[in-house]
Amino acid sequence: MTPVHEVELGTATLERFRSVLTDEQWQRLLRAAERGRKDFEGRVIWNVNSTARGGGVAELLASLVPYSRAAGVDVRWLVIDGDPAFFQITKRLHNMLHGAPGDGQGLSEPDRTVYRATSERNAAELVELVGPDDLVLLHDPQTAGLIEPLRARGTRVVWRCHVGVDVPNDLVRAAWAFLLPHVTAADRVVFSRAAFVWEGLDRSRVEVIPPSIDAFTPKNQPLAPGAIEAILRASRMHAGPTDGVATFARLDGTPGRVVRGVERNGSPPLPATAPAVVQVSRWDGLKDPRGVLRAYAESVAPVTDAHLVLAGPDTAAVADDPEGPAVLAEITAYAERLSPELRARVHLFSLPMDDLQENAIMVNALQRRADVVVQKSLAEGFGLTVAEAMWKARPVVASAVGGVQDQIVDGESGLLVDPEDLDGFARAVTGLLADPGRAEWMGHNARERVRGAFLGARHLEQYVELFEGIVS
Ligand code: UDP
Repeated sequence: MTPVHEVELGTATLERFRSVLTDEQWQRLLRAAERGRKDFEGRVIWNVNSTARGGGVAELLASLVPYSRAAGVDVRWLVIDGDPAFFQITKRLHNMLHGAPGDGQGLSEPDRTVYRATSERNAAELVELVGPDDLVLLHDPQTAGLIEPLRARGTRVVWRCHVGVDVPNDLVRAAWAFLLPHVTAADRVVFSRAAFVWEGLDRSRVEVIPPSIDAFTPKNQPLAPGAIEAILRASRMHAGPTDGVATFARLDGTPGRVVRGVERNGSPPLPATAPAVVQVSRWDGLKDPRGVLRAYAESVAPVTDAHLVLAGPDTAAVADDPEGPAVLAEITAYAERLSPELRARVHLFSLPMDDLQENAIMVNALQRRADVVVQKSLAEGFGLTVAEAMWKARPVVASAVGGVQDQIVDGESGLLVDPEDLDGFARAVTGLLADPGRAEWMGHNARERVRGAFLGARHLEQYVELFEGIVS
């Protein structure tokens, strides 16, 4: 086990937000920053999770911690470690909180012993770092065992659970039962949506704080039309010479360049002028790529000239997603059974993961290239791809599941469809393709929706309020 260690962070400036916020929002952010500086002076706010790289929580922390520091609040980020037995249990807890069995071994008393022992070892190191007035924000099941040891020393502790389901089943309740004895000691417990709040928690100590996206990373930074085309060509998603400038701004401000190509899995490049329906997701059955392909082939392709793009990470690169290769193989086999004319309109792109910022700029260009972005998931915690596409002013058709429902106001900032209703999904897509004016209006509303509720500024303000609530 490596010792608890601090993550080195890039620098950021709050000033950036000025270009994407309304005047009122910008002033609100400045006021929150000022309150934060004053209220938390002399204290450190420690974020603690179990990985510095990969996954949504690491991505959120990498974005929000530098902004908090830029605001003048001493926020830091620590990573704990565990042995394989500990992570096997926490992975199971993660799956069970989603309502899935994971490795199916359930949760036993010996598991609790392992969980406690690792937590105590990490806590012993943590209490050496955390000062008496400091505040601690723990993330996800791997850290719940740290609540009690920290509270026992009088440290104020918030625990945030980033996973959840709208309707709990017995597996979810078993995970709650395992974690509740730890979690009830926290000063506050944070969930990403109201429906995820556990039964049995003191509601007065529960807060709901949705995730956010970072408008300035390679995933979401603005791209000129010429750059979009250059990136799509350089990555082989579009045909044509790569004489454009496929460059982008890396996180540290240095210029990046797209040099790798996507694996097209037997598909031709997407014609530059063809209307495109695009879904970007891990190759996961719950993202329902089968449903998207079927609805497209049976009901969208026959009545439009649109092409379909299903894009996801290179499956060899995502080691913790063993289902990926099988799902991609199934989708590829399905596409091969289509008529040659139809097969030529379906594009299955695996995006290289060697350089995550290069991967992100490919996602960015593809989302901006789309005429309609779809996210036909059968389940979704939040659905970052939805917010990402909305921020790019794309009209989105998505399933009414999980946090997607908090993002899209149906009929205004996108269209929500029943995940089981393929015809309804296809109708929503063809309707938008046939009515560019409405699609543009919806895309505009989508961007404003994200500006209002899902950028980092709102997230930072909620964190200031949260910690004010426990220091006052
Ligand atoms: N993503 C990516 N590269 C890919 C495919 C997906 O960076 O090739 C990103 C996507 O842009 C989003 C994240 O992976 O930021 C997926 O988050 P989401 O909440 O949509 O779903 P999850 O994968 O967490 O279930």
